[in-house]
Amino acid sequence: MSEVHVHKVQPAWRERALIDNETYQKWYAESVADPERFWAEHGKRIDWFKPYGKVKNTTFDAPVSIKWFEDGELNVSHNCIDRHLATRGDHVAIIWEGDDPAEDRKITYRELHEQVCRLANVLKKHGVRRGDRVTIYMPMIPEAAYAMLACTRVGAVHSVVFGGFSPDSLAGRIVDAESTFVITADEGLRGGKAIPLKENTDKAVDIAARHHVMVKNVLVVRRTGGRIGWADGRDLWYHEETAAVSADNEPERMNAEDPLFILYTSGSTGKPKGVLHTSGGYLVYASMTHQYVFDYHDGDIYWCTADVGWVTGHSYILYGPLANGATTLMFEGVPNYPSVSRFWEVVDKHKVNIFYTAPTAIRALMGAGDAPVKNTSRRSLRVLGSVGEPINPEAWEWYFNVVGDGNVPIVDTWWQTETGGILITPLPGATDLKAGSATRPFFGVQPQLVDNEGKVLEGATDGNLCIVDSWPGQMRTVYGDHERFVQTYFSTYKGKYFTGDGCRRDADGYYWITGRVDDVINVSGHRMGTAEVESALVSHPKVSEAAVVGYPHDIKGQGIYCYVTLMAGEQGSDELRKELVAHVRKEIGAIASPDKLQFAPGLPKTRSGKIMRRILRKIAEDDFGALGDTSTLADPAVVDDLVTNRQNKK
Ligand code: ATP
Ligand code: MG
Repeated sequence: MSEVHVHKVQPAWRERALIDNETYQKWYAESVADPERFWAEHGKRIDWFKPYGKVKNTTFDAPVSIKWFEDGELNVSHNCIDRHLATRGDHVAIIWEGDDPAEDRKITYRELHEQVCRLANVLKKHGVRRGDRVTIYMPMIPEAAYAMLACTRVGAVHSVVFGGFSPDSLAGRIVDAESTFVITADEGLRGGKAIPLKENTDKAVDIAARHHVMVKNVLVVRRTGGRIGWADGRDLWYHEETAAVSADNEPERMNAEDPLFILYTSGSTGKPKGVLHTSGGYLVYASMTHQYVFDYHDGDIYWCTADVGWVTGHSYILYGPLANGATTLMFEGVPNYPSVSRFWEVVDKHKVNIFYTAPTAIRALMGAGDAPVKNTSRRSLRVLGSVGEPINPEAWEWYFNVVGDGNVPIVDTWWQTETGGILITPLPGATDLKAGSATRPFFGVQPQLVDNEGKVLEGATDGNLCIVDSWPGQMRTVYGDHERFVQTYFSTYKGKYFTGDGCRRDADGYYWITGRVDDVINVSGHRMGTAEVESALVSHPKVSEAAVVGYPHDIKGQGIYCYVTLMAGEQGSDELRKELVAHVRKEIGAIASPDKLQFAPGLPKTRSGKIMRRILRKIAEDDFGALGDTSTLADPAVVDDLVTNRQNKK
């Protein structure tokens, strides 16, 4: 193994931080010794119309049931908006940065309140009631946030579908949620290209009807003014409807365990699951993690680059930050438009203090070199974050040294759609950092590593990552299919929540996510995480991205098949292939020596930017006919290209 780089907490980080290491240790110990008491205290961070008496009522044994703050009553939009009006009504809640750098907008908490109240009244006028499911298929514009918050205000359950999904994918989610009200826009705009959201919605509504789910209304935001079809009686203009109703709306009193939203997972491992989150525990957990993980202080400008169509957008663009009264930046565009400096230009333009993005973006920007970063100041940055996949140490160091100029802490946050919020992460003023490690559990989170038979592994070891007790942000069920919930998460290891991820714990008790358990490679009896081999490849100066899978091998059981994307301007050759194989042997050892290495101009990714190894595995196995569910793939052409190259080699 190549040497692990430790970056100690710098004095400046500690001085500013809300939590130092002593406090972390103390709170963590309390949170696991007496979760009732810990969460009874921290549950008070949000406003309750009726305070909770009961804090925790959860069991991971059959029948699995998870309830937090179950007799409390609250409203999520009240917590994200109304309660801030008296003290910070004129503060900016949302900074919107358009796809076109010339376009931006600032929305204060008072303006947000008016917009959300109007939209809530529109929903009510058209018969949307508590518990009804509303599908939101929107570009990254403030109206997407208004739509989500308006749902929570009237007690409706939103299901946000990422605007990059096809009509079929949208239809599947409308049908699964049995949703009869859809909010969309005429078109989206990303990287200068228009996305036909309304046209896709029209198609999806027709497909849903064939599955007997009848959408009653489609509410349409005018974003580009592009030409669209119109169904009289069904379609409604957002600007007309919101102008015609009152700007006052009383939020519904909701029970803590009333559903807040349904969100489908990214689909990296198969058919997406309809994850259901509820109101009270989710908001407590999202806001608390947002505050402590990002060391958020009043007045900070906070930017999470995710799309609201993913859980990261739900918890860390919208609910966590707004519950904390923060200024949250919402970006409509993409990292490389108009140029690969865009992220850093936006950081400078809005003086962003906290910046949270994904390894896929970091690796892509790293591939374009340092100059586009170094052209910008980035002086405002105080915390950097990463989420979505393991971040290779090489990319981590680049993020730290080039983007952060070596003096900004990185929080590598491990979590899932299912977990509602961050579970394993450094805290900027408390945790010494190791490049590539998500480090330590957040308060109340009890990770455990087990072997394939479920035996608990202690100390420094490698295993399957489970969580042994509930935390408030945990999903409550798979929408409409509690049995699938129990089967997927609680049946592999009895009495434990199984994450599906593999993980290593080092001698300092730090956690390193090694990849999905399904992706683990077994070479001559040695189990290897994909992340480790990929990191070795990415540490070569000519490699920008790599994906590694196992394939059947007569002698070793499984062989190592590597797909490698080179840095801009580099060419693949037999010589370079040999050099990379030698490089991996040097970094990890002969056991990890790649058997096959294919240069790939692009890798198959989900629309949230995660590498889909299950498809690469099929290609490596020559099993081209059975690629499985590819509906969440960002660019299907990438797969054709890989298949062609693979076939040419045979
Ligand atoms: P599906 O469950 O449908 O296959 P998915 O797992 O990609 O899709 P998400 O909930 O968006 O859906 O992603 C959660 C997963 O992302 C985690 O289980 C883990 O594999 C990976 N992940 C997220 N953050 C990190 C991180 N900081 N380090 C390593 N892996 C991460
Ligand atoms: Mg998953």
